[in-house]
Amino acid sequence: MTEIYLEQLESATQNADSAEMFCYHCRRRHPRSEMLLINNKSGKRWRCRASVSNARRQLNERDAFGQETTRNNRSDDKRRADLTNMLRSMSRWG
Ligand SMILES: [Zn+2]
Repeated sequence: MTEIYLEQLESATQNADSAEMFCYHCRRRHPRSEMLLINNKSGKRWRCRASVSNARRQLNERDAFGQETTRNNRSDDKRRADLTNMLRSMSRWG
């Protein structure tokens, strides 16, 4: 019963605007004003804005990297196709 009481007390303090809230990402408390309620697979969680924007930036960088890799692969394919065509035409006329 003690655990349930502590949980209720925790959510009560988290609802107060002036309170610091536990950030599940950093595993520490931040001021309420820095916190965002995030919906994820395991439910609603409070995270700080900093951790959210960090994650978003990392995601953008990964996307940019992925696009770069795709572009490189594509030009490799093009080069390989050009070479194949050249060899084919050489053997045709050679
Ligand atoms: Zn945080």
